[in-house]
Amino acid sequence: MTSTITSQRDVVVVGGGQAGLAIGYHLAKQGTDFTILEAAEEPAAAWRERWDSLRLFTSARYDSLPGMGFPGDQERYPTRDEVADYLTDYARAFDLPVELNSRVRAVRRQNDGYVVQLDDRAYEARQVVIATGPFQTPFVPPIAEDLDDGVVQMHSTEYRSPESVPDGRVLVVGGGNTGFQIAEELSATREVHLAIGSRQTPLPQRVFGRDLFWYLDTTGIIRKTTASRIGKLMRKREDTLIGSNPRRARRHGIQLHGRAVAAAGSTVSFADGADLDVRGVIWATGFRVDHSWIDVPVFDGTGRAVHERGVTSSPGLYFLGQLWQHTRGSALLGWVKDDAAYLAEKVAASRPTAASQPALATSTESRSAR
Ligand SMILES: Cc1cc2nc3c(=O)[nH]c(=O)nc-3n(C[C@H](O)[C@H](O)[C@H](O)COP(=O)(O)OP(=O)(O)OC[C@H]3O[C@@H](n4cnc5c(N)ncnc54)[C@H](O)[C@@H]3O)c2cc1C
Repeated sequence: MTSTITSQRDVVVVGGGQAGLAIGYHLAKQGTDFTILEAAEEPAAAWRERWDSLRLFTSARYDSLPGMGFPGDQERYPTRDEVADYLTDYARAFDLPVELNSRVRAVRRQNDGYVVQLDDRAYEARQVVIATGPFQTPFVPPIAEDLDDGVVQMHSTEYRSPESVPDGRVLVVGGGNTGFQIAEELSATREVHLAIGSRQTPLPQRVFGRDLFWYLDTTGIIRKTTASRIGKLMRKREDTLIGSNPRRARRHGIQLHGRAVAAAGSTVSFADGADLDVRGVIWATGFRVDHSWIDVPVFDGTGRAVHERGVTSSPGLYFLGQLWQHTRGSALLGWVKDDAAYLAEKVAASRPTAASQPALATSTESRSAR
């Protein structure tokens, strides 16, 4: 029998990244009784975990959350640390109730609300917003296990700077923005190879002196929904390379390969039959989403959340910040505000009035605290 301190809130937001903060802004404005639970010990954790030299592919003009512009020259491409600082300042400026060191272990339905379980306490809430990010669990392909211990391997989330990687020939696996950018940084000091599993459409960062996102925003393409023809087309092509491309990589002396299909000892083999002996491998091979801790039947057979613009079939349970949640912009700094505003309206509309509001039943194993 556990003795859990259980508190009550109208709304619990799980995740204190840009998505959690963006809806927090609206909830605070509505005067909603809510909290934001963040697993990490410091704000903007996801950004702080990315490599040191990372620069955004969106210019500052397109990096703002609702109510507060991204500071400085709007045409520049901010660094990782500038984003972390902006998000930290944002939470402070609007006095958002972010509880750090608060990993949610389970969410389950109880009566007409939810229990949100942490290690040391629980919340009961009528409504819960899951804002735990589109890039959660680093994915490394199983062939990594076939490399011997002499090869230094890391996922891109562990890569910080060229000093993270041993001298000698390095292979970066993954032909997305992350793979290209890390390969380019490493190419200044060593021999770098890049394995590209599937080609992504390269787009220039600036066109006729303007940021790419100016065109996507002005033409409305960034807000085309998943249901629209253009949206469906773009989604099929999902990932686009912004600013990087194979020609530019070759100019940096990076040697390009096809998909890495096998490994043995210190050798990686590629789809075209070529082999490469390596000292280090960086797996820029993406992420998987893990929602296994949400014990509510809103997932399809593949574990993907089923929702309509973030609204699930379980009353009061929402997702925010997912890739293509509604549009291409849904998981981007400058556009997550659209879905956040939409969901905040849904939350407000579902809030019972004081007169109609029965107390949330408290489990027998818990005692209430506020
Ligand atoms: C390398 C890279 C570069 C990017 N560059 C850009 C860019 O230039 N411009 C742009 O607009 N977008 C960019 N993005 C996309 C997007 O803006 C980021 O991924 C952003 O971090 C997503 O914000 P989020 O709030 O949805 O998720 P996250 O930032 O991942 O925040 C989710 C938070 O939830 C917390 N959490 C997770 N599980 C739990 C739990 N069970 N309990 C409590 N807390 C939990 C995590 O600790 C985390 O802090 C980039 C993404 C990557 C990976």
